[in-house]
Amino acid sequence: MTKTIYIVGLGLIGSSLALGIRRGHPDYRIVGYNRGEQSRQIALREGIVDEATDDLSHFAAEADVIFLCVPIRQTIRFLEELSTLPLKEQVIVTDTGSTKKAIVEAAETYLSAGKISFVGGHPMAGSHKTGAIAADVHLFENAYYILTPSRLTQLDTIPCLQEILSGLHARFIEIDAGEHDRVTSQVSHFPHILASSLINQAGAYRQDHPFTQHFAAGGFRDMTRIAESEPGMWTSILLTNRSSIIERLEEFRKRLKHVQHIIEAGDGDAIWQFFDQGRKLRKEMEIHKRAGVDSFYDLFINIPDQEDTILRILELLRGISVVNIRINEDNRSDIHGILQITFKTKGDLERAEGIIRNQTSYQVFVD
Ligand code: NAD
Repeated sequence: MTKTIYIVGLGLIGSSLALGIRRGHPDYRIVGYNRGEQSRQIALREGIVDEATDDLSHFAAEADVIFLCVPIRQTIRFLEELSTLPLKEQVIVTDTGSTKKAIVEAAETYLSAGKISFVGGHPMAGSHKTGAIAADVHLFENAYYILTPSRLTQLDTIPCLQEILSGLHARFIEIDAGEHDRVTSQVSHFPHILASSLINQAGAYRQDHPFTQHFAAGGFRDMTRIAESEPGMWTSILLTNRSSIIERLEEFRKRLKHVQHIIEAGDGDAIWQFFDQGRKLRKEMEIHKRAGVDSFYDLFINIPDQEDTILRILELLRGISVVNIRINEDNRSDIHGILQITFKTKGDLERAEGIIRNQTSYQVFVD
């Protein structure tokens, strides 16, 4: 049965969701709300939505599913506003906010159980880009899409939502909202605070040490990349996940104190252990893999240190969908590196393996 999907907020996340939903369900009617004219016009022109409005109430009564894709504080205001509007019986309301507990609590406060199903959502992909202009149907492919049930989540809500979102090709995970906020405080919110602190520290240091800027190399760049994120979104995140983030800050303070202590003591063994533990843990946690997503089907190719080798391999694989490419450098000295190419399907992997074996002399192995 065809459905009406209401995307509230046609920014990066809302517009990309709309494209993904349409890919899975070309028959659905997708309508959108956006406050600003520009993204509304782009979404209409690009066929991201069929109809658009700047008045939240306009399509509310027609929607089978409502996706709130606006900043966290606005999501909470809209939940309150939805409670005053006539909605379809059994409508599913969900959101995309980066923190979940405050939103789930607001939904439980404002929406009435029995008539409305609410489940929190957090598609864990994004970028620094904003607005409908940045819409990308591939944005959520292989990414975790977290669903946080509430007291208003009915038995069939989550399977139904997953079916509607099947065209995103995301990986759905159900988790308690509080646990979501605790885990993301560790792996996302706290690192953003660190990245901004580090760049702010270097910026201040630069005043008296002008070479700071010139000597900052790859490591510093990697550690501060996320300091370019949008400040408004991060302010909302910190304000809606305060206790978990403060707890992580306190714990980290102790870790820094420990490092200071072993440096002051000149304890080389302890310093070595400190770095060695970090190196082992990073390998064990497989942080290098894309966004923590498991490799799907990996092909490893020993490649020589010769010009254009990688380009040649990719040229041979033209037409096969590649999820990720990586060069592993810590290996034997007679080969330049191991090229690791990740594919989505076993069939793609087997095709690629056959091509490389038949058309090159490189050593190939499959994990
Ligand atoms: P965006 O800036 O691209 O879009 C935000 C949308 O909200 C825009 O359409 C804007 O017009 C609308 N909006 C902003 N303030 C509003 C207000 N006061 N009233 C009505 N509409 C308003 O941002 P986005 O990246 O699409 O983020 C949307 C949501 O998704 C946020 O809750 C964010 O936390 C979450 N999220 C973002 C990312 C990311 O990396 N960008 C990832 C996952 C989840």
